[in-house]
Amino acid sequence: MPYIQFLGAAGTVTGSKHLINTANGSSGANGFQVLIDCGMFQGQKEWRERNWQDVPIPADKIDAVILTHAHLDHCGWIPRLVKQGFRGPIYATSSTIDLCSIVLPDSGHLQAEDADFYNRHQKSKHHPALPLYTLEEAEQSLEYFKPAPFEQTIQLSPELSFCFVRAAHILGSCMAEITLNVNHQSRRLLFSGDIGRVRSGSGCPGKVVRSGPNEGEVADLVVMESTYGNRNHPTDDPCPQLAALIRQTVERGGSVVVPAFAVERTQKFIFMLKEMMEAGQIPQVPVFCDSPMAIKAVEVFLKHTEEYSDQTKKLIHQYGSPLDWPNVRFASTSQESKKINDSRFPCIIISSSGMATGGRILHHLAQRLPDPKNLVLFIGFQAPGTRGFIIKSGAPEVKIFGDMVPIRAQKAAFEQFSDHADTPELLQWLRTFPQKPSVTYLVHGEPAAASQLRDNMTKQLGWNVQVAQWLQKVDVK
Ligand SMILES: [Zn+2]
Repeated sequence: MPYIQFLGAAGTVTGSKHLINTANGSSGANGFQVLIDCGMFQGQKEWRERNWQDVPIPADKIDAVILTHAHLDHCGWIPRLVKQGFRGPIYATSSTIDLCSIVLPDSGHLQAEDADFYNRHQKSKHHPALPLYTLEEAEQSLEYFKPAPFEQTIQLSPELSFCFVRAAHILGSCMAEITLNVNHQSRRLLFSGDIGRVRSGSGCPGKVVRSGPNEGEVADLVVMESTYGNRNHPTDDPCPQLAALIRQTVERGGSVVVPAFAVERTQKFIFMLKEMMEAGQIPQVPVFCDSPMAIKAVEVFLKHTEEYSDQTKKLIHQYGSPLDWPNVRFASTSQESKKINDSRFPCIIISSSGMATGGRILHHLAQRLPDPKNLVLFIGFQAPGTRGFIIKSGAPEVKIFGDMVPIRAQKAAFEQFSDHADTPELLQWLRTFPQKPSVTYLVHGEPAAASQLRDNMTKQLGWNVQVAQWLQKVDVK
């Protein structure tokens, strides 16, 4: 009997990695083996250490990878898998491939840089500290990517085919519909990847890609994300409050520091700042976009206009490419990045990583957190254990580059910018399924979120729902 094994994003929101083996139950022999997503664990050490463990099956015995989107918690382990001997095709949409060709080498670069830093300052318990993979290894892994268009069925083996449908989470994001034909029986599986906003409008501002995951899905078994399984996004428009906070910070001579993923969230936020500046809601202060991959990411966005929301289309039509906007400065070299530190005048600094787990944002936080004039603005999910989570939760200090940095800056967080559907939106989307799947496994959620979503789906929809456990194997009946 075919089975699925949850190799990541079970009990946590990172490390998405689900194995399908088409035959022979727990022995796993002779089956066609496919990984849906191959993400990196992030956040607490307990999870991050799992990045160093091998997958429980030899990497060269995995036949293919199907990738839902270009976030590192879904694609960041691919270079490691290739390093360990995987040589099969990695299927993704063409915009996902374009984004991966930016984020994966960057991830390799950051890891090598971190390992170097710790070795030079002897701040690691591991001697020497090693990167999970290097920039070169990440680039090598890109050779295995193969584009798969939306809505087109691709046969990977006699018993397994897949088709990508829109997830509306970020540019290129999709869900994977899998068809298994084993023992003269056909089964449909749906892997949701991350599910985008079902809603649009002022409570869900700045959407770069169109809202609304594909509706009316038919599946016998669903593997579904549950990031916001116990939370509702606020429904009000965050822009007036956001503008007021930025105005107050600038008035008292402070700067705004925004940790943001370089892909999608940064673009979304720059678009919003542009609109607020043009409308006179915030002062025309310099906006520094300090991320080596921000320019490249903007270029990928400009290439894939077919996925734009109406709002994005209008904005680009009106103001042209963000790379030419006079107030926005993109820092690509580390020299340019360091120059931002010298800026004594109010400015807005957007930098990655989004949860302050690494990258140039750490330098900006180390420099600006101790000053109460400044504002740290969170516009994205902060996983427990990350520096972003620690700062946001009101801790008096945070460890950056091995030193404790006092947190005196003002902090604010907005949940409206989320690219994940919240509980009401998830339930609304699930109601479009014409029939109940026989079983749904919830992944990609903290335990409390996953179990609350399970209870809601059971009560409100009458579905058979289970919370997936790490390394658990489930038969596809
Ligand atoms: Zn994602």
